[in-house]
Amino acid sequence: MTDSGLVLNNCSQVLTMAGDGLGIVEQGAVRIRDGRIAEVADHALTVAGETEIDCCGNVVIPGFIDPHTHLVFGGWRQNEFEMRLAGRTYREIAEAGGGILSTVIHTRLATADELYNRALERLHEMVNWGTTTVEVKSGYGLDTVTELRMLRVARRLGELKLCRVVPTFLGAHSVPKRTAKADYIERLENEMIPAVAAAGLARFCDVFCEEFVFNAAESTRILEAGKRHSLVPTIHADEIEASGGAEVAARVGAASASHLLQPSDAGLEAMAQAGVVAVLLPGTCFFLGAAHKSPVAKMRELGILMALATDFNPGSCPMLAQPLTAQFGSIYYGMTIIEALRGVTVNAARALKLDSEVGTLEPGKAADIVVTDVPDYRHIAYRLGHNPAWVTIYGGRVVHRQY
Ligand SMILES: [Zn+2]
Repeated sequence: MTDSGLVLNNCSQVLTMAGDGLGIVEQGAVRIRDGRIAEVADHALTVAGETEIDCCGNVVIPGFIDPHTHLVFGGWRQNEFEMRLAGRTYREIAEAGGGILSTVIHTRLATADELYNRALERLHEMVNWGTTTVEVKSGYGLDTVTELRMLRVARRLGELKLCRVVPTFLGAHSVPKRTAKADYIERLENEMIPAVAAAGLARFCDVFCEEFVFNAAESTRILEAGKRHSLVPTIHADEIEASGGAEVAARVGAASASHLLQPSDAGLEAMAQAGVVAVLLPGTCFFLGAAHKSPVAKMRELGILMALATDFNPGSCPMLAQPLTAQFGSIYYGMTIIEALRGVTVNAARALKLDSEVGTLEPGKAADIVVTDVPDYRHIAYRLGHNPAWVTIYGGRVVHRQY
């Protein structure tokens, strides 16, 4: 690809995501220059030295944004999956050495290069599915050295320029073995968060807020410590039980709150007031056969912005495909197709505070674009299991093309 730019012609629909809907430009075209969108037109564009892509009458959409993943880790957990299918409970699996802490053991043992190489394979798969921005959390180290290693791996992945990588510090994912929780919180506050911030390795600080992990008061304390070091708060909230996570998100001014299977009404109202984006993870809910689903109708009624993420991780959702998340959002959570498509683009950008840069196809925005192989936007949600990403463009460069 040359620096002279790209022209995408012969698009059946350009989904700009401008405004409140899909911002559809029928029979549209897109001009890309210097890695940015220069023009979106409702007619074919003349080519002036650019490389032209004939979109063959298919839909063009902003690159998918995945605002919640655990991409970097050592070791898969297929054994646990089999145990769960055989009817073992979470507690039984944990007692047999499973759960987050088993991934912590494998992650601590892995070298930076091992973590990087495994994560890179997964990142390629994401890009093949059209993802152009991915948030990546630490949280399988639970000690300073391994958490920093994970975040450096995330930084290296971003430097490849395959996909934008947004790093999040999730030292508060669990309490390490043989450590008192109070001691660990103190270490998070006084050692780990300052070290991560000083190295400039994270944009966000996250916490796994549940009664049995970090309760609302503890989560608030950790997120406030992150804020003192300029890390933007985000939170795993109200997944297993109502734990006041949505309320914490509103109180600390979190950019987003994830999961939200059982938020309280008061918590949702507070989130709406504070403008916290709900990051919904229907793939996880489906994969685990969870008893509760996120209350999408209630969120819609309150005007809470809904984003969608894969939650890719080795335990509760080994799915890398953001288009499948949109499909689960519609089919399993009851979102409209418009909500689902905004959930994986513009609203996901808002969850990551990147909406001035990505998430819509408007002049000046980064040219992160998926040329699909479908003629109508509804196919993206409707064709269950289909990968619509024919060409993935990141920063104006083709980073993947299906033949
Ligand atoms: Zn998560």
